[in-house]
Amino acid sequence: MSHSMFDLFKVGVGPSSSHTVGPMLACARFSQFAIQALSLDAIHRVSVDLYGSLALTGKGHATDVACVMGLMGEMPATIESDDIETMTKMVKNGGELPFAGSHYVPFSWDADLVFHYDQVLPAHPNGMTVSVYDKKDKCLARKTYFSVGGGFVVEEGETDALASDFAPPYPFKSAAELLEQCDKTGMTISELMFTNEIAQAQYTDPSATRDTVNQGLDHIWQVMRECIDRGIQQGGVLPGGLNIKRRAKGMYDAIHDKQAHGLPTDSNDWVNLFAMAVNEENAAGGRVVTAPTNGAAGVIPAVLAYYDKFVSPNNPEGIRTFLATSAAIGSLYKTNASISAAEVGCQGEIGVACSMAAAGLAAAMGGTNAQIENAAEIGMEHNLGLTCDPINGLVQVPCIERNTMGAVKAINATRLALGGDGEHHVSLDSVIKTMHETGLDMMSKYKETSQGGLATNVIPINVVAC
Ligand code: SF4
Repeated sequence: MSHSMFDLFKVGVGPSSSHTVGPMLACARFSQFAIQALSLDAIHRVSVDLYGSLALTGKGHATDVACVMGLMGEMPATIESDDIETMTKMVKNGGELPFAGSHYVPFSWDADLVFHYDQVLPAHPNGMTVSVYDKKDKCLARKTYFSVGGGFVVEEGETDALASDFAPPYPFKSAAELLEQCDKTGMTISELMFTNEIAQAQYTDPSATRDTVNQGLDHIWQVMRECIDRGIQQGGVLPGGLNIKRRAKGMYDAIHDKQAHGLPTDSNDWVNLFAMAVNEENAAGGRVVTAPTNGAAGVIPAVLAYYDKFVSPNNPEGIRTFLATSAAIGSLYKTNASISAAEVGCQGEIGVACSMAAAGLAAAMGGTNAQIENAAEIGMEHNLGLTCDPINGLVQVPCIERNTMGAVKAINATRLALGGDGEHHVSLDSVIKTMHETGLDMMSKYKETSQGGLATNVIPINVVAC
């Protein structure tokens, strides 16, 4: 299926799309369901059970906080990230929460949020159930959700979170089909994506136009830009206990120091700074764009900011072309592989973001469709096998630096692709298939569990099986 650009780029909060954004959305969906299908007055208790990777790295990813915010009816795109700490303290200290925004029920952070460290639901590693009980503690309703990566949530029994009757005018399931559609119509990948996106917008709102889509993409870029600007200004230490110092501000000051002394600065220094700023904001629970996940949220903004600073300043059409093309590539990974680190490791986060960014930059720089496909392929080919092993389950080490590496690699992938004529040996479809197979073969301890690789060899794990 072809996904909307706004499925691949969503405004959310840090630190994780699958462990923070998804669980918050699941709990918010459950609270909406309760408003519509149950009598709120009958509800005296609410609980959340977390399984698999949500349990194993949930505390490091603020899954517990996200669930509580969702139970209170808050949504990732609109919650004020600055208010989360206050709301958390209110629930922890007060021992109650306003379920669905208005119905107060007693709530024990320890007893009503249950981490099942040694259980995995069969359908997906990121499973959770939400239940409500009456005053005799009889269960009134229970639903199971899966956070399947990139902030997408599927309820048990649903086949796809995005299932809809909408049929795009130019559907594609593979890169080969995408290129064939472009060949037939004479469109670029970006133009094809815009045509599909406008049709999708008109499916729900017949008055939607190209401007509607432009405004949506401009907003995405604005949130990315603001995230970079905020990240550059913050100092101090990231939350979570690893005592990781924020570096973006110091990097920015160093670049300015060089400029003040008339010394040259390297574009790589800027790209590293942009990615670092976004992912430090993400690690601190700030407002970010999930692109296509939170752990990898810095790659695309960093490459876009590079384009804006060094290639074509103040070019909104170029930015839109970049984002539309990136979304087409992200859709291919979402359809044919996975963007969930719990399923395929970090290949599905940094690897996919790198591939999307390389394609977007190639398109914005005027590359042909074949060169764009080549850039996307190179972007993934050199991320194959990348494991997910966040220390203490926090999206900090290696995640923050890994975004800088993904962004720099994406720019080089674009350079390599634009230096050729689009002809190459390995197709994007082949590399997506390889990434998926590699991910399925990867031992589960290397897939977002905080129990393998760096996570165990640098600092002893603090996850207890109980
Ligand atoms: S290692 Fe990669 S996939 Fe894992 S949490 Fe960090 S950024 Fe996400």
